[in-house]
This record gives sequence, structure tokens and C-alpha cells, in this order.
Amino acid sequence: MDTQLADFIRDTHAGRIAGEILRKCVHCGFCTATCPTYQLLGDELDGPRGRIYLIKQVLEGREVTEKTRSHLDRCLTCRSCETTCPSGVKYSQLLDVGRQVVEAKLKRPLRESLPRTLLKTVLPNPALFAPAVKIGRALKPLLPSSLADKLPPLPETGRPWPVKQGHSRRMLTLAGCVQPTLAPNINAATARVLDRLGIELFEEVKAGCCGAVRFHLNDQARAKDDMRRNIDAWWPHVEGGVEAIVVTASGCGVQVRDYARLLADDAVYAGKAAKISALCRDPSEIVAAEGERLRALLPASPRGKLAFHSPCTLQHGLQIRGIIESLLAAAGYVLTPVADGHLCCGSAGTYSVLQPELAEKLRINKLTALNAGGPALIATANIGCLTHLQAGGMTPVRHWIELIDEALT
Ligand code: SF4
Ligand code: SF4
Repeated sequence: MDTQLADFIRDTHAGRIAGEILRKCVHCGFCTATCPTYQLLGDELDGPRGRIYLIKQVLEGREVTEKTRSHLDRCLTCRSCETTCPSGVKYSQLLDVGRQVVEAKLKRPLRESLPRTLLKTVLPNPALFAPAVKIGRALKPLLPSSLADKLPPLPETGRPWPVKQGHSRRMLTLAGCVQPTLAPNINAATARVLDRLGIELFEEVKAGCCGAVRFHLNDQARAKDDMRRNIDAWWPHVEGGVEAIVVTASGCGVQVRDYARLLADDAVYAGKAAKISALCRDPSEIVAAEGERLRALLPASPRGKLAFHSPCTLQHGLQIRGIIESLLAAAGYVLTPVADGHLCCGSAGTYSVLQPELAEKLRINKLTALNAGGPALIATANIGCLTHLQAGGMTPVRHWIELIDEALT
């Protein structure tokens, strides 16, 4: 696509990235067919091709309007369009640039900026989030459904982490920001499964939010501070020979995998960020690599019907497809077919709070597809999808690693 970037962006790092991406787009529109917001709204400007065109106009110096911002806000950043695009257009990277410019050029009204400020202050900070959840649970009947949805029942007291086994293989895991409060069993279950596979898993308490919350709310500077803090916290373990950094929420995994790109122009952190990204693994990659050993440990007992919801961050972000389904089948589950598995469930980080109507429509569609085969359980790989789907239906939703852990006991 022919693009004449305006002076304010042409010779910047962001401008060079955006210009390169825009040149790759041939405007064919294949991506539009797999875009969830286009499917719901039927407006070209609520699909990837239209949004690319809007961003191009903004970067060429056209006036930024509230209408432009609304179309960009309605994007889920699900990256289904990237999977579809035959030209390899990195839409999400262009969107990052476009959203940052729009945010800088057009001040949001208080009704929009206040919830964003609250979300990026509370969610990444467990010291604020944990008490907020406690208060929220007490006041749940009074909250709007988009917020009440985010408050699952108190998690069951899970089984403890395995006692240190002295395995020679050691891996770090990210505790993250909301997951320890909402579902602390996920990392403990991962530690138990890896322990059975001869791997010690541990958390570094000085690490925190991966940066995704602030990054996707356009606070990219503070998101990069989150990333640098994690790198500093993890670095002594990296130097100590840790084999991998296992991230059990695929939404956080895709962010950590992206540290290398996001900090590429940071003179101090670029090298370390590249190493951290190279070490980042989804737990499915670790467990699948030990597939033979796992299968030998799993009892051959049928476990009933299960539907797997593959988060966008897993299938479109990390490009991991089919691995978890195979592991669950090996554990004795019969996987039911799920139509339109490439479409987002509507969770998308803070999207379900900021765009509740669209998120609700997407959730209804997703739960209908997931429940079509009559599963007793739904499994997924990301805490955001898990809480969002659980709040909308009766079928229990679990992280897949918890099911492998239970199958091993
Ligand atoms: S992003 Fe890709 S699929 Fe979409 S219009 Fe551009 S080239 Fe075509
Ligand atoms: S990221 Fe998802 S919602 Fe956004 S344009 Fe691409 S397909 Fe559509």
C-alpha cells in the first residue's frame, strides 16, 4: 500500500515499523472474513483492512477523530487476521503504533479515561488487586455485570507445590498479576506435573505483571518498566542456568515472547530481553517434549467429553495449535468438535470490561460452539478466557494443566 508518512512519525522507530507493515498490505481483504468484530458489526472499518486504512490516514497526518478511535478501540487484538493474511502483515504491531499516536493526539473524556486508569493501576498490582477482589465479591450483586463477571467464586484450596526434589532441570515460572488471586492452583498444578517429569519449577517473587495490561491500555512506557523489572528479577536465575521461563497464561506468554521486539531499541535491556524471549515457553511445549514419559505415567482410564477453547494468544499469538488437544486426549478425554475455533471468546484482556456488549455477544457465540458436543468440561490455557467463559455458562472451565495434574494423581 503506497504510504506517505507525515513528518511527525516518518523518521522515528515506530514510523519505520509502520511504514514497512503498511507497504506489505495489498488490501486484498482476506483477513476481513476471519475478523470477529467485522462478523458482528458488518462495517469495513471494524475489520482489519479498514483499521489498517484508518491507521494509514492517521500516520499520514489526517485529523484524528473519536470515530477513528472507536474503530481502533473495538479491535480485540486477537490477531486472527494475522493468521489469515497471505502477505504476512503484522497487523498487531501496526495497531500498537496507531493506537499510541491516536492516544497522544486525542484526549479521552473522563468516562473513558477513568476506567482505563483504574484498570492499569489495580490489575498489575496484586497488593491492590487481591483486596479489590475481596471487596468486589462482597459487593458482587451491586456491580455492573461486566465487572461482576470478573469475580469467580473463591478458588478451592489446591494441593501444595511439590517439595523440592533436587531435580537437575530447573525452570522459572511467572506468577503474574491476577492469576495468583483468581486461580492459584494453575501454577501449583504446573509445578506438580513438571515435578513428575523430573523438572523443578519455581517463582521469583520480585517479578510481577508481564506488562500486557498496561501495554494494551496504551501506557506503553510503564508497560516497558514492568518488562524491565521482570528482566532484572529473572536475570540472576538466567545467569544461574535456568532452562526455561514457563508462562502458564498464554496472554502473558505472548507478551514475554515479545520482550525482544518491544525492547529492541533499549540500549541497556535489548540483549537481555532477547534472551528472556528465547527462554519463554508455554507449559504445553515443555510437557509435549516429555510426551513419552508423560504417557507412561498416565493411567489408561476414560475421563469423559471435553471441549478445548484455544485462546487467541495461544493459536494466533504463540502459533501453538493441536498440542494441548493431544495431551488431553492422551490423558483420557474425548475432545468434542468446536466450530469456528479461530474466533475470540471476547475476553481479550480488559476488552470485556471496556467493550461489554461486543464481549458478551462473542462469549455467547463461543459458549454455544463449545457446548455443542455436550462436553462435561471446557479446558483452556489463559486465565482471562477461563474467568470470562466460566461467568457466562454452567459447564466448568479449567486450565488444561490442572486436568493433566489430576490425571496423574
Ligand atoms: S492485512 Fe493481509 S489479508 Fe488483510 S488486506 Fe492486508 S494483505 Fe490482505
Ligand atoms: S486483531 Fe482481531 S478484532 Fe482486530 S482486526 Fe484483527 S481479527 Fe479483527
